[in-house]
Amino acid sequence: MNNLTDINVIKALLKKHGFTFSKALGQNFLINPSVAPEIAECGNAKPGFGILEIGAGIGVLTKELALRAEKVAAVEVDGRLIPVLKETLAWYSNVTVINEDVMRINLHDVIKEHFTGMDVAVCANLPYYITSPVIMMLLESRLELKSITVMVQKEAGIRLCAKPGTREAGAVTFAVRYYSEPELLFNVSRESFMPSPNVDSCVIKLNIRDSSNWNVSDEKLYFKTVRGAFSQRRKTLANSLSSSLGIEKQKVISVLKTLAFTESVRPEQLSMDDFIKISDSLYS
Ligand code: SAM
Repeated sequence: MNNLTDINVIKALLKKHGFTFSKALGQNFLINPSVAPEIAECGNAKPGFGILEIGAGIGVLTKELALRAEKVAAVEVDGRLIPVLKETLAWYSNVTVINEDVMRINLHDVIKEHFTGMDVAVCANLPYYITSPVIMMLLESRLELKSITVMVQKEAGIRLCAKPGTREAGAVTFAVRYYSEPELLFNVSRESFMPSPNVDSCVIKLNIRDSSNWNVSDEKLYFKTVRGAFSQRRKTLANSLSSSLGIEKQKVISVLKTLAFTESVRPEQLSMDDFIKISDSLYS
């Protein structure tokens, strides 16, 4: 089996199949030989696990997942890569490649069809143009996942794994934490990819929580409050909530005061429990 992180091997393979990179599809393939094995090791690729990969590329991570996990289902939207993957993954009988857009396919059906009786985890080097939508779709659709281990742009990873109450926290921080316990695992330099992107990357792991972890009266209103709070980052919480949710400012201020927050509190100063209390009180 050829080394899929060797630039000459990749060039020959892509030339043979007449493949050229698509920037629009976020095609930056891994060429650092240590990264794909590390993602697989950290990402629950082991016996008893079915691994869902998003964006197989030429199969460099797929192969590492197949070596360790019970089964792998790899979703790849670019039909031009399917014959390439047929060639590079020919030796791995536990891999199914699915030529679909991950945002359109029914992943509940994929899991039912390929991973019955197994624990399931997601591992991927995500296309950066849809990092947050993919992660939120995976979390919100409440797939039965143990973990999501993904490579993302470094800045996105910092925000996704930020601790509530810190400057880096944003709406996505509170959304991700609602469903999971996030961990920033390691950084990956831009030279680890072909072609090399303009930014560095990092690998994060979201350990999926039990759904009963938070005591929220209405999930939808919680997320609406979080999004509203961060919709105008320079404003105070009272101003952002009032203008984005269409609630009178005096009512917002009185709710905040009842909960012992000052009028000038900012959303990035709050914890998960603070947001839950505020959303429960605002709509009660
Ligand atoms: N896993 C490979 C690697 O690590 O070298 C490729 C990673 S590359 C950053 C992202 C891959 O996602 C590309 O192969 C791209 O074609 C694929 N992709 C982009 N958008 C997608 C989508 N909506 N659904 C599924 N795959 C997608």
